[in-house]
Amino acid sequence: MREPFIAGNWKMNMTPSQGAVFAASLKDALKGSRTKVMVAVPFVTIPAVLEVLKGSNIIVGAQNMSDQKSGAHTGEISALMLKDLGVNTVILGHSERRAIYGESDSFINRKVLLAIAEGMEVVLCIGETLSEREGGHLEEVLTSQVTEGLKGVSAEEMKKITLAYEPVWAIGTGRTATPEDANDAHAFIRGLVAKLYNEGVAEELIIQYGGSVKADNVAALLSKEHIDGALVGGASLSVEQFLPIVNFGA
Ligand code: PEP
Repeated sequence: MREPFIAGNWKMNMTPSQGAVFAASLKDALKGSRTKVMVAVPFVTIPAVLEVLKGSNIIVGAQNMSDQKSGAHTGEISALMLKDLGVNTVILGHSERRAIYGESDSFINRKVLLAIAEGMEVVLCIGETLSEREGGHLEEVLTSQVTEGLKGVSAEEMKKITLAYEPVWAIGTGRTATPEDANDAHAFIRGLVAKLYNEGVAEELIIQYGGSVKADNVAALLSKEHIDGALVGGASLSVEQFLPIVNFGA
């Protein structure tokens, strides 16, 4: 039985003071919720949000980290720094990192291996662009992102990995994959993981869907066999919108 996992990605929104105010109302709104929930917040906002969310079940995650342990890497944030703050989960390979900052599968893989080596959990984002989908390359793209992104991760270490399938054309566009299309992609990813590892690893793997998830489409998406949660951008910036998503549309 896979435990649903809903994550909010604040992207480059929320200063420390805004984040603290928002986290306080989120904490209040989610009191009593049993769903596994994470908010991935900007680096500098992490301490303020961690402080407010102390004593709640809401996980505070990071949106990225360096592929290097330490040293001369101006502007980077290391796994060690995140762990020292109390952050144990990191989103890696978000399509904005891939498209805007040129992160490749092998670069992302270095980060995945480092995070795992440091005992952290990873939400690894994968997904095709519109032209890749329309050109019939969906499976090829997912195969290389999964195979390359997870290279060197053992079957045992897969317990630390969540995959987030996020079709790039659905992120921040208001355009969502149909639940059927999303489920087909998730089923393909799960099958691929079964081939790369084994059926047990594939069965246990949490695969989130991301791309314009909202209160009115989350229930249909999460009702699908292979969709185990959601990675939510825009709608995670409003408690009114995020709460029904955590409650699967209720
Ligand atoms: C995201 O940033 O991962 C995302 C899915 O964004 P949105 O929900 O706004 O499409």
